Amino acid sequence: MKKGRIILTGLGVLALVIASACVRGALYPKYPKKAWQPTAGPWNARAPLAGATLCIDPGHGGEGRFPKEVYTGGTKGVVSGQTEGAVNLRVAQYLQQDLRLAGAKVEMTRTEDVRCGQAPDRHAELLCRSDFSNAKNCDVFISIHHDFTPTDIPGFRPERLRASRAYIAPGDELSLPLAQNIVSALSQGLGTFNKGVMPSSLVVLKNARMLAVLVEVSPLNDPEEDQRLSRPEYNQKAARAIALGVLNYLRVAQSRDIAFREVFPPSSSELDSQVAADESYVRAGLEKRWTFSGLECDEVLYGIRGEIRQRRFLRPSSRFREEPAFALIDLVHCE
Ligand SMILES: [Zn+2]
Repeated sequence: MKKGRIILTGLGVLALVIASACVRGALYPKYPKKAWQPTAGPWNARAPLAGATLCIDPGHGGEGRFPKEVYTGGTKGVVSGQTEGAVNLRVAQYLQQDLRLAGAKVEMTRTEDVRCGQAPDRHAELLCRSDFSNAKNCDVFISIHHDFTPTDIPGFRPERLRASRAYIAPGDELSLPLAQNIVSALSQGLGTFNKGVMPSSLVVLKNARMLAVLVEVSPLNDPEEDQRLSRPEYNQKAARAIALGVLNYLRVAQSRDIAFREVFPPSSSELDSQVAADESYVRAGLEKRWTFSGLECDEVLYGIRGEIRQRRFLRPSSRFREEPAFALIDLVHCE
């Protein structure tokens, strides 16, 4: 019996390896991502996003106006009944203001309660959003969402329901530090649990040709959070945190000086932007490289607020180098 079980387990593992190899191709970003090039000309710490174009995608919209097959989902407040699309749009509009304060040109995939374009089905509707950001030649694509976290799963911890997280396309290492900085600033700014950055082959992420992050700000199925999310001041706070995350990315990944207090003067917000930025930036660094089942693996140290934590970050083995970078991302659960 024991031998049989070992063989069965072995076959199971083999099937998993084959299956993961098969889906790997499908998971890669459809296009190589365009790096965010620093602005040409002298650096202006007071207008750090001058010359950059950022695309904001308020997720969903137009709830209830379309048949299910053309509607892209979205959740509802468990107490208030407010639609996710409406909350996403409020946060996106505040984020648009903040990014403009930092000097950016901002493009929005929608500015009212509608879906994107006249797309005939869900997939086309999502493609419409990434096609829009590709057509506008944006440097960064940020999709704003609020989730509905399942609570009936094994190991669910109620104290972690109120959490923020971010997604990037699998293997999209360029967007990883941006996503890390955004979710860290959100967690710090809202006091949510940081669920980190996870790979996901969402259409909007895979098809965007630039740095692309999908943010789940916080869950609409937490009754108290739902109440908070109905207040514009709270949506504004979330937007400010996302903006600080974007600027922290420039600070850390591109070694840029940012005059946070001049971009966001203390009087315009209850947050001291410099303190909030200092307390949430994420800096990752390679610790050592090792090999695991034919994959070259990097062990990465990253720091938040100066605290160093250790996580693994797997890189492609040399035989996969020709393909877009493949990364198994086991990281950023900042507890
Ligand atoms: Zn959503």
